[in-house]
Amino acid sequence: MLQMKLCGDLVLRTKCDPVSAITPELLSTMDEMVKMMEEQNGVGLAAPQVGILSRFLVMMDPDSKQVFRMINPRIVSYGEDKCTMEEGCLSVLGSDDLPVYSNVTRPSSVIVEWTDETGKQLSAQMMGLPARIVQHETDHLDGVLFIDHLSPVRREMVMRKVRRRK
Ligand SMILES: [Zn+2]
Repeated sequence: MLQMKLCGDLVLRTKCDPVSAITPELLSTMDEMVKMMEEQNGVGLAAPQVGILSRFLVMMDPDSKQVFRMINPRIVSYGEDKCTMEEGCLSVLGSDDLPVYSNVTRPSSVIVEWTDETGKQLSAQMMGLPARIVQHETDHLDGVLFIDHLSPVRREMVMRKVRRRK
């Protein structure tokens, strides 16, 4: 049974190691992460959020409901245009145990490369919500949280709600 790691846990601040082999454990962990993501109405979950310091994640395109299992994902190119969208994180919860949301500005489109669960190398240009989600989730693999992209004032507004939970 995997456990969700919350903001303040150092595991969320550690750079993850590449996955070297697709093992049955990895596949079952990713299945469990998809289940957790869906149960908590999330659209993405990265390995360190369940305490595993390894470069893999699961995410869902909210429009098509397509689920991606990405091993060693890498954003190889960022579009020039930026956009602002509300972001939250299953590891950054407020006093009601629900994610705290804040507007974050990021590139609108990205090209991402990854290995899928069958070992196939894939590459895709993503725009809109999937582009947003894949940036948020790959950040997790480098120990970066969405609050790191906020101005100090906005970050403090989020952290005040997070601290109220404890
Ligand atoms: Zn997150």
